Parts: sequence; C-alpha cells; structure tokens
Amino acid sequence: MVNKTTSPPLWLLAELTYRCPLQCAYCSNPLEFTRYQNELDTDAWFSVLRQARAMGAAQLGFSGGEPLIRQDLEALVSEARQLGFYTNLLTSGVGLTAQRVNALAEAGLDHIQISLQAADPELAQALAGSAKAHANKLAMAKAVKAAGYPMVLNVVLHRHNIDQIGDLIALCDELGADAVELANCQYYGWAFLNRQALMPTREQLVRAEAETNRWRETLAARGRDMSLLFVVPDYFEQAPKACMGGWGSIFMTVAPDGAVLPCHSARELPMAFPNVKETSLQDIWYQSDAFNRFRGTQWMPALCQQCDDRDKDHGGCRCQAYLLTGDMNATDPVCQHSPQHGLLESLIAENSHNTPDQATLIPRNARQSKQLQGQAEIQSGLRQSGLAAPSPRQPLELIYRQ
Ligand code: SF4
Ligand code: SF4
Repeated sequence: MVNKTTSPPLWLLAELTYRCPLQCAYCSNPLEFTRYQNELDTDAWFSVLRQARAMGAAQLGFSGGEPLIRQDLEALVSEARQLGFYTNLLTSGVGLTAQRVNALAEAGLDHIQISLQAADPELAQALAGSAKAHANKLAMAKAVKAAGYPMVLNVVLHRHNIDQIGDLIALCDELGADAVELANCQYYGWAFLNRQALMPTREQLVRAEAETNRWRETLAARGRDMSLLFVVPDYFEQAPKACMGGWGSIFMTVAPDGAVLPCHSARELPMAFPNVKETSLQDIWYQSDAFNRFRGTQWMPALCQQCDDRDKDHGGCRCQAYLLTGDMNATDPVCQHSPQHGLLESLIAENSHNTPDQATLIPRNARQSKQLQGQAEIQSGLRQSGLAAPSPRQPLELIYRQ
C-alpha cells in the first residue's frame, strides 16, 4: 500500500562496495564497514535499479568505497542507461584505465567525478596511503576529458590541504576541469573520528574562501569557464542544512549489503534499516518505520516545531545531531538556536590552537575498522554483564576515544 502523502524518490545512490584501496581519514563510510561483507550480486543490483526507476527515481550515483572494484560496473551502467537513469560515477580514479573510461562511455555512463586529495604527490600519498594514486588520478582526469565527458573534480578540504587551495585550483585549471567542487570536510564516519585532526581553523577557512574568490575573478578575466563551488563545513555555520532535502524526501541510498538508508551516513544512527533482500524498495520507501521516522514535523523538538524555518531545513541533520549530542531527535547543534550550539563554538576554539599533525590521523582501513568494532563489542559486553555503567548507545568513535 502506498502512503499518498509521500513523494517518490528522485535520487538513488548505489554504494556498490565498501572496499577501497585508499585510506582517507575523512571517509564518510561507516567505521565498522568490515562488518558488511555480504555485497549484493549483479542480479540483486539489477533488481534495485529496476525497482527504483519504476518508483520514479531518475538520477543515479554509483559510489562506494571504490565502485570501480566491482567488475560488473559496466553491466550495471548499461542496465541503468536502458532504464533511462542519468548516471554519475563517483570515484577516486584508482582502478580506472583509458580502456575502462571508454567501456563505461560505451555502456552509457553520463558523468564521472574524480576526487583529488592534494595538489602535490607527497601530501596526496600521506592522506590516501598510496604512492601511485595521485599520478593515476591526473592521468585519468585527462582520459575522462579525452573521452568527451565534462571533467568534474572534487577535493575534500581539511586542515592539512586547505592552505594548498590556490595550487589545487591551478592544478584543476591545468587539467582542463569544467567544474571543481571544493568541499570542506563534513564530520561523519571516519571524518568524525578524526575531526580534531581534520578541522581547519576559522582563519584557514576565511583565507581559502578569499583565494577561491580571487581565482574566480582570474578565471573570468581569462574567459575560462571552470566553475568553483566552495562548500563551507557545517560546524562553522549558524543555520543547519536541509539535509538530503529532508529525511526520506527525495534521496535513497542502497548500501553494499542491501540496507536501504535515507542518506549514506544514516547507518551511524541507533536504529534498524530495512534491506532489499527482504523487502521491496516500494515498501521500504513508503511504509518502513526507518523512512517515516523523521518525515514531516511531528517528530521535531518543540524548538523546531515552533520555528518558521522548520519546513526549510527540516530541523537539520539527524546524524549530526546524534553524533554531537547522543540524541538523534535533538535539534542539529549547527543551529544557532540549539541549546547545544556552544559545543561547536568550543570545538572550533579548542582546535584553533592545535598544530596540524598528519601522524594523528587514523586511516580508514580494514584493520582499524575491525579494531574499532572490537572495542565497541567489549564495551557493549561489559555493559550487558553489569561491569560497566549502562549508557545510551554511543557512536563507536566515542567508545574508541575512552
Ligand atoms: S573517501 Fe577515500 S577511503 Fe573513502 S571511499 Fe573515497 S577514496 Fe576510498
Ligand atoms: S530551530 Fe530547528 S527549524 Fe529552526 S532554524 Fe533551528 S534547526 Fe531549523
């Protein structure tokens, strides 16, 4: 039965795998990604694509992990194309070859976005944990352009690379990029775990935005059409974002193991999510508790229910509220009206005195993931046996820090 008050999904993010050869300390994948080994096979993904398209989804992103690890990527792209999706591949570029760029183009892929870690190979290696990745990314950016795609590059900015912003934009210009997304790190998953080492200072942010504006003028004066999108980190804002355009409103993520989420970070919340192996996408979207939980305004705290902006920002991000306050029903602390907004002010103030140290970054890899899971399970076992005080479920990273 369809709940008539809910609009259909427009976006599907297909996270094909959590496997990835890189180890970015700002990765938004779940800390316990090694727990989800049971990836959907090709037929199961075909079924997901068909169901989502039948429901009305038109935009499709393939991501991960590194989606190029999946050898059936071309087949999935081809199926998506036949179904009428507009398709986008979000990749680190590792695993891409000129042949594969061409094969993906033949399969009907519409768009490729490659991420860069830094402007120079040394910092890129320190951040991604790979000596070869940077050179390969540059070569593949050129191959993508040569295959006739618009070249879109993405850089996650943080304390260790944000001062390189001028060099990063110059590099993108040299590569012939059509659009560059300068996305300041948002603190979910591994980025939340590493946030103290990743958060820039306010001065760094101001300088970086000014440098971006200078580059916009330079590019315009040269008649060069390369758009620069500078995304400010939420922690430095006063108003929360309308996360995913509203919970269960337009966006749906299917995780590698088939779990269906309103956004790719929602796995961090203390709630159960349905799986396409057991339930149809239609029932999940319209009927499941998970997707209905934060729709509308009924769930909101009084502060948001009485606020004129409630339909604009939907009370902010549930994952951010939970990670920062331990309560997924709270107003997002990014909001200046939130009683917990001071948490962010304190974090920014504390961090302004730290010296950036790459050695303190915890890399996103299988060994660390298993270790974090182990820590969480020990804590949970202690609580159940009464050897540790019961407490609300804490995000793994809080447990790890204890
Ligand atoms: S952010 Fe880095 S580690 Fe995470 S999936 Fe992307 S490339 Fe891999
Ligand atoms: S009080 Fe709630 S609805 Fe109002 S601006 Fe803040 S988060 Fe948005």
